[in-house]
Amino acid sequence: MARNNDLSFLKNSDPEICNAILGEEKRQAEGLELIPSENYVSRAVLEANGSVLTNKYSEGYPKKRYYGGQEFTDIVETIAIERVKKLFGCSYANVQPLSGAPANIATYFALMEPGDTVLGMDLSHGGHLTHGHPVTYMVKIFNYIRYKMKNPDTGEIDYNELKETALRERPKIILAGFSAYSRELDYEKFVSIAREVGAITVADMAHIAGLIAAGVLKNPFDAGFDIITSTTHKTLRGPRGGLILVRENEEFAKKIDKMVFPGLQGGPHMNNIAAKAVCFGEALRPEFKTYAAQILKNAKAMAEVFHGRNIRMLGGGTSNHLILADVYGSMGITGKEAETVLDEVGITLNKNMIADDPRKPMDPSGIRFGTPAITTRGFREEECREVARLMLDTLENKDNEPKKKEIRARILELALRFPVPDQFF
Ligand SMILES: *Cc1c(COP(=O)(O)O)cnc(C)c1O
Repeated sequence: MARNNDLSFLKNSDPEICNAILGEEKRQAEGLELIPSENYVSRAVLEANGSVLTNKYSEGYPKKRYYGGQEFTDIVETIAIERVKKLFGCSYANVQPLSGAPANIATYFALMEPGDTVLGMDLSHGGHLTHGHPVTYMVKIFNYIRYKMKNPDTGEIDYNELKETALRERPKIILAGFSAYSRELDYEKFVSIAREVGAITVADMAHIAGLIAAGVLKNPFDAGFDIITSTTHKTLRGPRGGLILVRENEEFAKKIDKMVFPGLQGGPHMNNIAAKAVCFGEALRPEFKTYAAQILKNAKAMAEVFHGRNIRMLGGGTSNHLILADVYGSMGITGKEAETVLDEVGITLNKNMIADDPRKPMDPSGIRFGTPAITTRGFREEECREVARLMLDTLENKDNEPKKKEIRARILELALRFPVPDQFF
């Protein structure tokens, strides 16, 4: 079960932290990770991320740095940029954003003036916190307005409403992207509406970047999107980090580079950029397509079980890696209760608001779960169907301690049969 880098020095110098890291390693090994935004990186990614590149200051961009000693950092960042451009088919890439939220913030500031409007997906219909949630500081600077699904049971976006809102409000950015939505978007429709009102199209692909890179979901650039922002640590299976891609507009690319550094960030985390480069290299391999295709098959297999047991799923099922289930509406169990009781049997997922949720964010109606991490462990449809059945058995027996114990034992057995791999190909 040796998944961490060698911890032989840490063990002696700081046993408290070392033990916490080892505890986390054990937790990851013995439970099933169904949080759809999580994954396991390869040992190669882990090594790059834990490398001496963390010692280096590299403010600026390749060949345009503020400090000397950049012969190796320039190699690393240039390779990362070239690989990610190839992966998504675009002309410009910035790999320095520290994570998904900073990538989005840099994009907003690069392309808008304070007071400008962003039209994004309603947060309870799947949009992300960074798309203008009232608790974020961005809402004090920009004006965020919303589009929604026409029908939460099919997941179809109300493109007529989207168009009317765009014509009326004249947003500077139209934002496509989500973290709790299980269907594909019609990117062509976004682009045609944006062109009509002169808006810039930004796709925040944080959750589905790996699925797009592998070609198993549509690429917003193919429909003419201007910009893609993303994380690197979800389906893309890289280190925690962010990135911003520009399809072809050089002016946008220049503004984004300037905003990331020096506009908002200081020195790039070169260890992290090296790990991103390794992850992009892995995602470029043909085997990554097989992985991504299996993520989708596995999610569909789980959805079939939920469907067969009459559990309402938002969007009526899934076309991607995640499922949003209305457990309160279907079983009378709140999202929070479901999260807690599933945690007891070794399944980690998160409670989630559903569209127009009658309940509160801290105890909503839904749960959200997905297959990227268990697919990395080698689960296929058969195991995924079993996990789905065990989940529903757990929820139906939430007060039955012996039954839950039995399920916990079975989950542990599955987890140990599919150890977290060191390498994937
Ligand atoms: C996860 C996510 C982010 C934020 O990424 P962090 O790395 O957590 O900052 C942004 N947008 C979407 C759609 C996401 O799913």
